[in-house]
Amino acid sequence: MNYYYFTQKSMAMPLEIRVRGGRNLEEFNRFGNMNPTPEFCGRPYLMDRPSFPIAGNLYFVGNLWCSSHLIDTGDGLILLDTPTAGSLPGLLFNIAALGFNPRELKYIVVSHAHSDHFGAVAALAHLTGAKTFMSAVDTRDMRENPERMEKMNLDLGYYNECFTPDVELEDGDIISLGNTRMRCVLTPGHTVGVMSHFWTLEDEGRAFHVGIYGGAGFVSLSRVALERNSQPLSLQQDFLDSIDKVWDEPVDIMLGNHPFHNDVYFKRKRFLAGEEDAFIDPGEWHRFLGELRAKYLTFLEKSPQEVEAMYARSQISDYYKGI
Ligand SMILES: [Zn+2]
Repeated sequence: MNYYYFTQKSMAMPLEIRVRGGRNLEEFNRFGNMNPTPEFCGRPYLMDRPSFPIAGNLYFVGNLWCSSHLIDTGDGLILLDTPTAGSLPGLLFNIAALGFNPRELKYIVVSHAHSDHFGAVAALAHLTGAKTFMSAVDTRDMRENPERMEKMNLDLGYYNECFTPDVELEDGDIISLGNTRMRCVLTPGHTVGVMSHFWTLEDEGRAFHVGIYGGAGFVSLSRVALERNSQPLSLQQDFLDSIDKVWDEPVDIMLGNHPFHNDVYFKRKRFLAGEEDAFIDPGEWHRFLGELRAKYLTFLEKSPQEVEAMYARSQISDYYKGI
């Protein structure tokens, strides 16, 4: 297979590492308002960046806003989450650029019922015939709240649409295809039925545990937001319980629903600079979950006015300073 290894020079503009070095994490909140800027919303292709391998049979095919991961199982491809529908051309380009035919897509697994993770699913399933998966809990939420869903679809870009998964997942279900067995764990909070995923991959004889925490954003969990969306206040405690639930999972390679959750583009930069194991970091899972819990607890203390101020403007451009 021929991969296109995009080098830094071939990218539209240079990618500078500004986040991990020197930035005060108190000033920067990766779980804050990381929505696209108005310019990104109007021209979603501006968020597109080249796809790249992470390790073994695992690839990043998402964009600056939404993560999307591709697994080559040897018996077809699994895609974990899609970006919004407006970014479908970039997703297809990114899959093809790695040497894969999008028609090899067999399974599309959706972490949770938010448009920035499922917006392109209906179109992609139509194009490829892939089977779609999402938790039964979020599927019910999607079905029973069409107005809330439609508003979110419109708020998050053009053409996003709901879908009905072929398979409704329960806690602990295994998705099996080719060389991959993906365990799906219900971690409610961010949505009522968000799932985290865990599996093992092989890379040149080494085995790595891969983990992705589903739904790390918590703005939807303020009392005001929960009331507005007619969702139970108990989701606030669920969010903490879910962190505890997966705390002990062994994770060597941490993925994120969004690239700014696990700094994937910055790891890619380090990889290109010669750091072969840039994506492998067994300590990241606990650092991430610890940061998530601490920031969430601080968030819960905030007044509605403080929350509003915290989400007044998008920080996505701050995070990617230099791109
Ligand atoms: Zn979400």
